[in-house]
Amino acid sequence: MPSWIQQAAHRGILTSRYPRVAASEPDEIPLTARGPLPTGPIGPAAVDGCPVGAISPSGVDQGRCVRCARCLATGFRFGAPIEMAGTSPASLRTSTVAPAPSGAGSLAELGRSLHVFLVDVGSCNACNLEVLALANPFYDASRLGIFFTNSPRHADVLLVVGVPTAAMIEPVRRAYEAIPAPKAVVAIGACPISGGVFRGQPGLRSSLDELVPVDLFVPGCPPAPTQILDALLTLAGRGRRER
Ligand code: SF4
Ligand code: SF4
Repeated sequence: MPSWIQQAAHRGILTSRYPRVAASEPDEIPLTARGPLPTGPIGPAAVDGCPVGAISPSGVDQGRCVRCARCLATGFRFGAPIEMAGTSPASLRTSTVAPAPSGAGSLAELGRSLHVFLVDVGSCNACNLEVLALANPFYDASRLGIFFTNSPRHADVLLVVGVPTAAMIEPVRRAYEAIPAPKAVVAIGACPISGGVFRGQPGLRSSLDELVPVDLFVPGCPPAPTQILDALLTLAGRGRRER
């Protein structure tokens, strides 16, 4: 039986308590979504074994990591904090600690509600599914004033999944232009941060911030819904890191 059903039967409620749950309590997030951290000095076997070049002697680039788990055999463990969103790809390069709180509450002036427009610029569909899970009864983002909209003209946030393909460069730029200010852009997953598993393939841009200004980068492949929720709440100045 899935653990979230067991939790619901135990608690008597279905909906996640995030972000009200304390950081010390278990969160509804698979361990593999939390990013790898080294347990000791990083050796050449780990550096050479990473299929996307995310490991260097100084640490892990969480924005490149595709959570393949290959490094677990060379002195790493999954366990990075849930709140991993950063304000730049460079802020996702960690050694043994999580990035500092981003403080990217650029939409805090909008108050209690955020409207989100989702654009897929070339995903494998997994990040899409994790974003759309925010609308299901478990994550229920509407309880936190977060709603999806089908028009960029009604949106505050542009959420982008996938590695930017040539055909989607102009549509994503037009979507960004159509959103009224104040607005923010969030890149979801390794693909729009670094190209992910598609990095270096012909016809692809390696990062979304080559096309539009990006406020927050959420690492993962795919990130868990809770991590995406954290990024949206951080924009609104209501994230757990801000509490
Ligand atoms: S889990 Fe991430 S850091 Fe580890 S080998 Fe895979 S891609 Fe590289
Ligand atoms: S980041 Fe990973 S899960 Fe998300 S679209 Fe790219 S390959 Fe798929």
